[in-house]
Amino acid sequence: MKNWPFSPRRIRRELALIAALNLLCYLLFSHWQLFEHLDDWLHSHPAKQIGDVLLIGLTMTASMSLFAFRRLRESHALLKVLRRQAESDEATGLSNRRHANRTLQQETERSQRSERPFSVLLIDIDHFKTINDSYGHPIGDQVLRGFAKLLRQSARQLDTAVRWGGEEFLLICPETGQEGALQLANRLAERVRGHAFACERPVTISVGVAALRRDDTPESLIQRADACLYQAKQAGRDRCVSAAKAENEG
Ligand code: GH3
Ligand code: MG
Ligand code: MG
Repeated sequence: MKNWPFSPRRIRRELALIAALNLLCYLLFSHWQLFEHLDDWLHSHPAKQIGDVLLIGLTMTASMSLFAFRRLRESHALLKVLRRQAESDEATGLSNRRHANRTLQQETERSQRSERPFSVLLIDIDHFKTINDSYGHPIGDQVLRGFAKLLRQSARQLDTAVRWGGEEFLLICPETGQEGALQLANRLAERVRGHAFACERPVTISVGVAALRRDDTPESLIQRADACLYQAKQAGRDRCVSAAKAENEG
């Protein structure tokens, strides 16, 4: 597997190398009678209580410490890979729902603590079933990947782009208020309209935008974005509706 840091073969090779090195050290020490010299030295320094295998003990300790250090680094890298896999959607490479839920919780708490704005965009590709039915599932998958790429390109460093499920996506936008989020949604919709996707027909999206309120939970925030998305669909699709606007209209 690409970027997989753990290899039992490499560990076996390293262990064999360590054994060979230590054997070589032992042979060299014997060859130069280092043990005898050490013994003489110990006898001339009777206060020192050190065994006569000190040198080989030292090389073994050093090599095993290095071995352990390398395994620790490996397991750290392994954890990172596993975590990335557990938190991303395989088809699009975006964050998955598990990661989104964690980020939503963190951002909600952070925003309410610091009284900073925080918004989400809930995005649904319009008539996606027709795309699948007309061009086939593989082309549908390509359209999903194409949209995921656009979404990633439209997101800022701080934002988290999520595949929320099927042809539904979420953009988590910290430090963004209602107006900014609606502008971002409109820019994204415009970009999608002008993009050449894998299918011949034009692709459009509907977006529900909601900004965090003081008494919100992640669930209530998403519910409000979902209600706006529903309104965008009801109003004819290919449009963005924000919570404030929906309430004013309602
Ligand atoms: P609307 O404008 O109301 O959103 O209509 P829609 O056709 O986009 O929505 P609907 O919920 O009727 O259909 C969504 C379709 O998306 C149905 C499902 O088969 C398809 N879909 C979900 N996940 C995938 C996927 O990973 N790949 C492909 N190719 N299709 C998918
Ligand atoms: Mg749809
Ligand atoms: Mg849908």
